[in-house]
Amino acid sequence: MVINMEECIQQKSKISEHTSETCIFCKIIKGEIPCAKIYEDDKIISFLDIAPTGKGHALVVPKEHYETLIDLPEEFPFLSAVKKVARAQSAALGTDGFNLVINNKRSAGQVVSHVHAHIIPRQANDGVFFELRHRKATEKEIADVAEKISKFL
Ligand code: AMP
Ligand code: ZN
Repeated sequence: MVINMEECIQQKSKISEHTSETCIFCKIIKGEIPCAKIYEDDKIISFLDIAPTGKGHALVVPKEHYETLIDLPEEFPFLSAVKKVARAQSAALGTDGFNLVINNKRSAGQVVSHVHAHIIPRQANDGVFFELRHRKATEKEIADVAEKISKFL
């Protein structure tokens, strides 16, 4: 059987350390443990985070077990589901913004190894602390890294 590189990566991610047997989100999807569900279709489920950053903090989760965003098939309608839930969230809560966070791999803070998007509703002065720390970089450093990455694209 011939499989291409993308299929190979997807197969690997499906047999990663947390398989669908042990994955907490797969258990939620199978109905084995409860969740505060807000949306479901044949490919996606969305429910509220059990330890929210702010009121209404939602998770959008593909029903099939993939580890990271990179592993999801290209045609998977992930972003459209995220937009649908974000719209409903702001309509229901009267918030005017949101942070979209997808942690990929342990190094980036991913705890549950089943790809998911956090949608964190925001409004001015809501007290939610969310900041990326920036540092100074030389123009040369930026140009060198840009060249390095673009060679892979
Ligand atoms: P991450 O660090 O991106 O992997 O985030 C995992 C998120 O899943 C955390 O924000 C947890 O609070 C959340 N979480 C873990 N278990 C559950 C659960 N049973 N129901 C809802 N959210 C959960
Ligand atoms: Zn899973």
